[in-house]
Amino acid sequence: MKERPASEIALERINILFELAEKNYRRREELARRYLQLAKRIAMRNRIRIPQNLNRRMCKECYSYLVPGVTSRVRVRSKREPHVSITCMNCGTVKRLPIKRRKQE
Ligand SMILES: [Zn+2]
Repeated sequence: MKERPASEIALERINILFELAEKNYRRREELARRYLQLAKRIAMRNRIRIPQNLNRRMCKECYSYLVPGVTSRVRVRSKREPHVSITCMNCGTVKRLPIKRRKQE
């Protein structure tokens, strides 16, 4: 049997933890936070990155599971570099994601 690389297993665990957070954040916010904290720890231990689509759903300060309109506030800002700001409703930390401009025609 082929052995799977540790990083692959770690990524799978991270995905599962985010799924669990998704299922639990409404009723058990604290539990969802613990799952994401664990996901982060797994990523660090294995020196891998949390995939971008998942990472933007996690508050880097309090590990809240961020859901637009529920646990986070999402705004599009056009001043300076255009970006999306995601505010954690639990601790107020703002995450900023740059918006890539389309190439000018
Ligand atoms: Zn937070």
